[in-house]
Amino acid sequence: MIKEKTKGLLIVVSGPSGAGKDTIISKVIENMKNIKLSISMTSRSPRGKEVNGKDYYFVTKEEFEKSIKNDELLEYAIVHNEKYYGTPKAKIEEDLNKGVSVVLVIDIQGALKIKEKIPEALFIFIMPPSMEILKERLIARNTESKDKILERFKTAYKEINEYTKYNYVVVNDKLDVAVDKVEAIIKAEKCRVDRIEEIYLNNKEEFIHEGLIDKEFVNEDIEIR
Ligand code: ADP
Ligand code: 5GP
Repeated sequence: MIKEKTKGLLIVVSGPSGAGKDTIISKVIENMKNIKLSISMTSRSPRGKEVNGKDYYFVTKEEFEKSIKNDELLEYAIVHNEKYYGTPKAKIEEDLNKGVSVVLVIDIQGALKIKEKIPEALFIFIMPPSMEILKERLIARNTESKDKILERFKTAYKEINEYTKYNYVVVNDKLDVAVDKVEAIIKAEKCRVDRIEEIYLNNKEEFIHEGLIDKEFVNEDIEIR
């Protein structure tokens, strides 16, 4: 039996604030194997029940700038004209080589930087069903002041225009449907020939052993009872 061996996928998920990225991705990670969330670094302060090292690595502006200088980030951006957010490089490559997929939930500026550096990453855009629903979700989440919600809402109008730069768009109307779609996209991407070719070539011996390649069909191969 040949075993499926693929490198992990680098999965970049973006969409306007309140579209449901965190809600969807936490369910996908709960449901799927060999997949983890990358924890970003930020210079903003923790909100509500957020925990350092779990939701973000919360650092000062100076500490963040030191990480930039030391080339410790795969990408970073100033989000909502305010604070630094970035993806620590450490361990991502190691996880991918072990077959573990890594999800980055990052803003569009960061996603476009990754696209330049790593075009083979998988880019998924989470779209709200309407601006009205987006507004309702941001208000109901109750994690930002009215000013901050307005700022995020304004940014959303700009961000939504960028969805064409992603490989897939998932409208988050019914949560379970959106979660299913994201899981289906990840499963399908892991079966793509251009993603697994290298692995298959490296395992040619196993293919020959199982008679899957390099073997002509002969009558004796099938015994009909
Ligand atoms: P994001 O990570 O994109 O900023 P969140 O995951 O925090 O968005 O979701 C914003 C709010 O909308 C949260 O309160 C969440 O519970 C809610 N939410 C997410 N998806 C849905 C959905 N499909 N239907 C209704 N509410 C949702
Ligand atoms: P929040 O402050 O609501 O947690 O996040 C604000 C925005 O920052 C969200 O759009 C989120 O996707 C983005 N973000 C979170 N982590 C990163 C990161 O590492 N890099 C970039 N570029 N954006 C991030």
